[in-house]
Amino acid sequence: MKHLIIALFVVISSMGFAQNQDFDTYFQDNTLNILYYHSGRVGIEYYNIEQTYGTKGWAGTKTKLLDQTNLGAHRVEVYAANTQKIIYSRNHCSLFEEWQTTPEARNSCGNFEEVIRFPYPKQDVDIAFFSRDSLGGWLEVYRHRVEMRDVAMIQSSQTKSKIYPLSISSSEINRKLDIVIVPSGYTQMDSLKMISDMNLFTKFFFSKAPFSDLKDKINIRGICYFSEQTGVPGLDSSINPNTFLGVGYNTFGSKRYIMTPNLFNLHELIMDVPYDQIVIMCNSEVYGGGGIFNFYATSYVNPKNGFVLIHEFGHSFAGLGDEYSENDIEVEGAAQSIEPWQRNVTSLKDFSKKWQDMIQDSVPIPTPQTKEYEDKIGAYEGAAYVSKGFYRPFQNCLMRSDKPFCPVCTKEIIKMIDFYTE
Ligand SMILES: [Zn+2]
Repeated sequence: MKHLIIALFVVISSMGFAQNQDFDTYFQDNTLNILYYHSGRVGIEYYNIEQTYGTKGWAGTKTKLLDQTNLGAHRVEVYAANTQKIIYSRNHCSLFEEWQTTPEARNSCGNFEEVIRFPYPKQDVDIAFFSRDSLGGWLEVYRHRVEMRDVAMIQSSQTKSKIYPLSISSSEINRKLDIVIVPSGYTQMDSLKMISDMNLFTKFFFSKAPFSDLKDKINIRGICYFSEQTGVPGLDSSINPNTFLGVGYNTFGSKRYIMTPNLFNLHELIMDVPYDQIVIMCNSEVYGGGGIFNFYATSYVNPKNGFVLIHEFGHSFAGLGDEYSENDIEVEGAAQSIEPWQRNVTSLKDFSKKWQDMIQDSVPIPTPQTKEYEDKIGAYEGAAYVSKGFYRPFQNCLMRSDKPFCPVCTKEIIKMIDFYTE
């Protein structure tokens, strides 16, 4: 037994070493930034690279170079150009993908800014962009070569925004989950409120498990950035929507959905901040927010409650799906014929890949939404906006209402924190 344990330890530690070596073989300790347009309409999708440059330092993990989560609607793979060996990959979702589901996208094109960042390659690389096909598989949409001799390193933008440390567990940025809070709708007149709201958001993060138990794995930094005007446009026509950051309510006609089309400008503000995840803090007390996986989260400021902030972060950080169905109205969804990629939603088509192993034998599937099963993991019908055909793990979870995260979501969040910190 002892031999086995020692043997296992050697294998595990050499695997870790191999990945570290991979980092030094292929990458420098800097960041490659690629700014591009993601455009198209229903059934048509294309990419157009706008700008490529390097910035100092790399804040992400150096050990988890390949993304094996299989989450998200898009996937980016980076290959060493000479050997075609895959050296880095990440999955994410996008505002483009959501726009593709709107009625306007049936006959007009949308054009969306996106940014990807990965460690700075030592040699030329090919970048492949994938999206999901109708069966949930990956389809390559575009491939682009980056010739590193043409890439310039660019200098800091610290004149526009200054880093404001909020909760720093350690300066070891490659082994921490680094969150940056970007204030939107605060002018210099609101500077005291901006600092106090950033501290409030930090307090909200650590008020909810599992984040509250893992404070030592998380760094939170804000930036001091002043907008042109106070407040967030989109509901009140007195606020001009043409701001640098472009954050506003009423995205795609959904009143309380806060997003921004100006990702290049957002990226300019934070390119010197070590970060893995972006949270946009909106200077408004009107309910609203949004969260897109490995893209960013937004939230209004409710002085009494951080539910929306943490719910949206559940989407943007862990790729969790909503565990509610819109007003519990029955909606026909073609998507229910396959298993959705969200780990806390199932169509029961391939349930063994989800949380089936966490359910006690005495709990029936589907599970009745009765008092008897109130605190039991099951498969409760109604999730991902749909009341029929999609199931959630718990009767009530933070991805549904202002309750703690359910055991399935908790497990997924911990796994994701480990991804950034181990
Ligand atoms: Zn949940």
